[in-house]
Amino acid sequence: MSIELTQPQVMLHQMVTDFADKKVKPIDMLIDKERDFPEELWKDIVNTGFLGLSLPEEYGGAGFDAIASSQTIYDLAVRNASIAFTLEGHYKTVDQVLKYATPELKEKYLPQATHRIFGFSSTEPQGGSNVMGHTANAVKEGDKWVLNGNKTMITNGGLAEVYCVLLKTSPNELSCFLVDEDMPGFKHGKREEFIGMNGTPVGEIFLENVMVSEDHLLGKIGQGVEIGDNAHYDARILMGAIAAGITEHALTIAVNYAKQREAIDTPIIQLHSIQTKITEIAIAKENVQLLYQEAAKLKVAGKSYAKVATMAKSYGGRASVTAADHALQVLGGYGYSREYPVEHLIRDARALQIAEGSLEKMMIEISKEVVNEREE
Ligand SMILES: Cc1cc2nc3c(=O)[nH]c(=O)nc-3n(C[C@H](O)[C@H](O)[C@H](O)COP(=O)(O)OP(=O)(O)OC[C@H]3O[C@@H](n4cnc5c(N)ncnc54)[C@H](O)[C@@H]3O)c2cc1C
Repeated sequence: MSIELTQPQVMLHQMVTDFADKKVKPIDMLIDKERDFPEELWKDIVNTGFLGLSLPEEYGGAGFDAIASSQTIYDLAVRNASIAFTLEGHYKTVDQVLKYATPELKEKYLPQATHRIFGFSSTEPQGGSNVMGHTANAVKEGDKWVLNGNKTMITNGGLAEVYCVLLKTSPNELSCFLVDEDMPGFKHGKREEFIGMNGTPVGEIFLENVMVSEDHLLGKIGQGVEIGDNAHYDARILMGAIAAGITEHALTIAVNYAKQREAIDTPIIQLHSIQTKITEIAIAKENVQLLYQEAAKLKVAGKSYAKVATMAKSYGGRASVTAADHALQVLGGYGYSREYPVEHLIRDARALQIAEGSLEKMMIEISKEVVNEREE
């Protein structure tokens, strides 16, 4: 751990690791196989207060900062990445309500974020990267907004009950609205048949003449791109933590296996080629961890964290896949087997190069930032 945690953060870390060791670690492979969290675990997650972890105390949350929330996501991801992924989708959405909603909307919805899951919805069937190509829209009628369209691939889609949705308010303008699944005209659609992060549903929603009052608009008309970008940056810190968690998980499996597996009467941990793979995984984990923790520190300090958060996710997304692949090789044939957890680590890690901005788009963002810094 490269950061000094405060006393409350140390206690939180202890609580989360105890919880995750008892309730999550033993069912990591079951979650992947069943493509769901057991009902009991879900109740425990809500009752233990995970959903309101970073929500300010005035709204019923625990008021922890980004250092604590990313540490929590890491601690969970080491045991099962998709539990961490579900919380990541919730936290980044709640963050946008906190930043952009009117006081009345915050008063109404933020206390619910301790027990109802939130999701952030931008992607449409015809494309995710090009947000200005979206067609789902909001039209003002009297004092109401009428919302229509189809959104796909929402982390927690189906499980979430409250959504922040990016909608066109004119051909060149995106705005963000808060929508509740209880509203007439709101429907959940299919769940994606994704290859990894199997505990987390990723699904679609339909809006058919959903009517919301003016105060369901987050920020101002036309601020949707900014809010979507902010959601990405908040999410990328947590995605970095997930990448580091998956990498640590791969490292533990590889080390434990290599210590007990023998070849020519010697544990394979004695072989240089195996040591090299373990070293590569360990270096990757340390690097990803330093990046997401640095982004979290910048966020807590009120400084710009977009670039470092994007670095954490873009580097971490690739490094965690490579790390899990190294671990697979250490386990040989068993690494390639569904009876061992390494193969699902690769499938889980692979999501991190797509969700919250594709790797390609992130590379462009980082390079623009780096060039700009050198022109100032
Ligand atoms: C596990 C998971 C969870 C997700 N969760 C959410 C969520 O909570 N909310 C949500 O709204 N969406 C979510 N998504 C969708 C995700 O944001 C999109 O998949 C992503 O933005 C890419 O969009 P696309 O799939 O339509 O691919 P496209 O946009 O069609 O891109 C296809 C390929 O072209 C490349 N490309 C496209 N445009 C450019 C460009 N301008 N420059 C360089 N390369 C480009 C992409 O990098 C990609 O390789 C999730 C996806 C996954 C896999």
